[in-house]
Amino acid sequence: MARLLFAKLAELYEQLEKITSGNAIRALISAFLKKVPKKNVEQVTYMTVGQIASEYEDINIGIAEKMVLRAIATTADKDYATITALYKKLGDTGLVAEKLVGKKRKNLPVNEVFNALHDIARATGAGSQRKKTLILAHLLKTASPIEARYICRIVLGTLRLGVGDMTVLDSLAIAFTGSKKAKKELEQAYNICPDIGIIAKTLATKGLKSVRKIKTVIGRPIQMMLAQRIGKFEELKEKINGSIAAEEKYDGERIQAHKKGRTTILYSRRLENITREFPEIAEQIQENVKAKNCIIEGDCVAVDAQGNLLPFQVIMQRKRKYDIQEYIKKVPVCFYVFDLLNLHGVSYIDTAYPARRALLKRIVKETQRLQLAKQIVSTNLDDIEEFFNKTVERGGEGIIAKSCASNSFYTPGKRGWLWIKWKREYAAKMADTFDLAVVGAYHGRGKRGGTYGALLCAAYNSTADRFETVCKLGSGFTDEELKTLPKKFRKYETKTKPARVIVHKNLVPDVWFTPAIVVEVVGAEITQSPIHTAGKGLALRFPRFIKYRPEKKPEQATTVKEIEAMAEK
Ligand code: AMP
Repeated sequence: MARLLFAKLAELYEQLEKITSGNAIRALISAFLKKVPKKNVEQVTYMTVGQIASEYEDINIGIAEKMVLRAIATTADKDYATITALYKKLGDTGLVAEKLVGKKRKNLPVNEVFNALHDIARATGAGSQRKKTLILAHLLKTASPIEARYICRIVLGTLRLGVGDMTVLDSLAIAFTGSKKAKKELEQAYNICPDIGIIAKTLATKGLKSVRKIKTVIGRPIQMMLAQRIGKFEELKEKINGSIAAEEKYDGERIQAHKKGRTTILYSRRLENITREFPEIAEQIQENVKAKNCIIEGDCVAVDAQGNLLPFQVIMQRKRKYDIQEYIKKVPVCFYVFDLLNLHGVSYIDTAYPARRALLKRIVKETQRLQLAKQIVSTNLDDIEEFFNKTVERGGEGIIAKSCASNSFYTPGKRGWLWIKWKREYAAKMADTFDLAVVGAYHGRGKRGGTYGALLCAAYNSTADRFETVCKLGSGFTDEELKTLPKKFRKYETKTKPARVIVHKNLVPDVWFTPAIVVEVVGAEITQSPIHTAGKGLALRFPRFIKYRPEKKPEQATTVKEIEAMAEK
């Protein structure tokens, strides 16, 4: 293919829509990628996961359903009412477009579609709605029916082919190195540079050697390092040799701050730009971090007037588009920093933790709103227990114990034994908590008529890139939360089972959801179950809803491996 036509991509999507086996999906995508001209590989990978750029880039197409319907009306020269009537019947703008627009022309290059979608995203400010609609209408005019179907879906973020970044990494490995073996190295690079387009382009044009050399860059978020859990406090000594740096565990929002000259960008755990939500923290970093360029990380947590730590639900009030200035005063926060990943362009992820912390201490001037995470360093468990108790007293969630060994590097995206969490729930032996992806729901009856009776929840199998079920979640919701369930999940409904979701035939839900929303669930015990698909059939008994975890992506849910390890204990 000298010039890649969008029709070819649309054909691929149509085929992908029909299959549910992960391996078949990978085989199809990798065979396709092999034939794609190198210059198009980046565009193809973004679009196949339903995007036009990496999420962190904050490039939003910014078109609502209504505007797409308007664009279809213009293109098809029909009145708006006809279009909305058809939409009501078909339930998908893509299908409406397919029915009404397009000639049999099939010579639209991928390049043109990709650029037009970026033009739509770039249209902002006064009159932008009209401009966006016009660009889309123009694009639809040059598209064939099936192309129009997928253009509309990409525009609205409803492509949902069941293809995630991990599926693409697998396919890239097969296409450009001949086997899935290289996936591990691609994943490592992806953790440092979570941009599927850059990985794809580097691999296709420069090979695996260059992918290995990808480094941290200020302005491009890094997947965040995660903490392991233990069953008994004493295990800390078994898992961490020598000195342990015990730090307060803040029940807040993890933030990675990238300071580059006069701008500071804050990234969430999902690697979304959330600077708008915490402008005062960005300002604090500008003023009080004594380094021109750096990447630092910490947890932002709500605090009261005395500086006591407040629970997660309080800081969640700051997740809003409006009245930000008012809420800066209403819900004051403090950013507790605990790591340094890059200083003046030099990567420090392969430097031992004590040295990273020492540098961090040197550049951070503490204020009421910007503090170093409180820490003690000790080899003595009694000291650490005392520190834990004090932390819980002032509202902390527990501690994170960190290795100080010579290999205590920052391991992007990994949940290893260099960081171990110990929460107050574990200490009270109450139960364990799980972050699960919601993949379906069952209609409620009686008192729950009109809403859902239970949600079907799944853990993430990171090896197979699949979501495997562990429980039906029906308790722990307030009346208000119950009532709003269908509305909250509507956007993620799919007609058929999403490809990466594995469900037993006796547990098929009334409604399927693309894995998108993550819930934190407390469970009493893990048992064997014939109808759940996590690992060899593990289930969570007596699950109760605690809260939504909007800062987590479904792939950041508790993994099947973790649940297996807990079951063993
Ligand atoms: P969890 O989300 O329960 O798996 O706990 C891990 C999270 O604890 C991390 O993602 C951080 O957001 C948070 N956290 C709070 N305090 C710290 C700290 N001092 N060091 C590392 N992570 C922390």
